Amino acid sequence: MSTSPISRIPRIGYGWDSHEFQPGVPLKIGGVTLPHHSGLAGHSDGDVLLHALTDALLGAIAAGDIGTYFPPSDPKWKGADSALFVREALRLVDEAGYQIGNLDSTLILAAPKIGPHAEAIQKNVAELLGIEPSRVSIKAKTPEGMGTDNAAIAHVAVLLCEISWP
Ligand SMILES: [Zn+2]
Repeated sequence: MSTSPISRIPRIGYGWDSHEFQPGVPLKIGGVTLPHHSGLAGHSDGDVLLHALTDALLGAIAAGDIGTYFPPSDPKWKGADSALFVREALRLVDEAGYQIGNLDSTLILAAPKIGPHAEAIQKNVAELLGIEPSRVSIKAKTPEGMGTDNAAIAHVAVLLCEISWP
């Protein structure tokens, strides 16, 4: 591991993603299946929050984005569990000598309401990342005046801290 002073500076990461709703597909957000008539179409299982999180983690260590490692054109990733992408990004973060300080997220979608599920999503994302739920923030808004009622959007910011060795 590099011991240059620059490696001691915390690193910020940011990721954004969107997917279109499609009837008859299970809705997965943050690895939690939510009761809804439509799910999210597109890359893998369409988990917009885990995709934005993967991009935030990769962005924080300047290691490209989700498409660099898991191209949507590869049929291998069709329907794949997005937790896989987060785990790989987390492995790269660890390899770079960093750990997650905290993460903050905002979901933007017209329906379903995220409030009743926010705690379950927070717990699941924290477990996936191996950190306490208090380091994971899940917020949600409706897309007022955006004309994106048929899409789910996720923004994620993460702060990485250097792994401190005993
Ligand atoms: Zn995506």
